[in-house]
Amino acid sequence: MNHIAKNIIAEIGDLIFPNNCMVCNCEVGDSDNSVCQKCFAKFEPTWLEDWIDKLAFFEGIDEVYSAWYTTGSINDLIHNVKYHDQPKLGMELGKRMAQEFPIDELEKIDIITAVPLNSARVRERGYNQSEWIAKGLSIAWEVPFDFSLLKRIKHTHTQTDLSTDERKVNVQDAFISKGSIEPLSIAIVDDVITTGATTSECAKKLKAGGAVKVTAVSCCTPAFDY
Ligand SMILES: [Zn+2]
Repeated sequence: MNHIAKNIIAEIGDLIFPNNCMVCNCEVGDSDNSVCQKCFAKFEPTWLEDWIDKLAFFEGIDEVYSAWYTTGSINDLIHNVKYHDQPKLGMELGKRMAQEFPIDELEKIDIITAVPLNSARVRERGYNQSEWIAKGLSIAWEVPFDFSLLKRIKHTHTQTDLSTDERKVNVQDAFISKGSIEPLSIAIVDDVITTGATTSECAKKLKAGGAVKVTAVSCCTPAFDY
């Protein structure tokens, strides 16, 4: 099917099945989007601040950026991406994140990767939400992704209910990097970064594999008063 035909079909689809914002339920014209511009504008941005000095665990990480604080409806959206079979919403969030940190305001990034899920969780969900967020960033930044750089080798419990120290123990040696990695500057994506325990474990393995720089990037982070 050619491009014009695809566009016509998409537009007819929008007329027959109008797309509504997942947050406020208003009509969203573009069928690729699930959240309207107004609702995105209400999310609380972190304003492209490198917050590495606030991470409890930062070994291997050179810089960390998060698009929004976990306040308001962004929490529900992340929950939907993770648990309610909405991978494309992850991609949409990734594209919007790229507006919060445009690629030309960051130091050079050669490749994007994502924190791997364990295989049981991928089977359960059907996808890794962080990979879909990373795909959205990849499209918007025009930077390639490679999700084969890291592998999760240990089943870990969800970090949510663990203390800071328990989080570190939980993810210790949970990942390996694939053989040798080109000396690249890598952005690693996670949906939420809180203490940095998981991302730091990944970053250490990327560095050990040959990465020269690791920038951790997440959709959200809790406000910094913990
Ligand atoms: Zn809305």
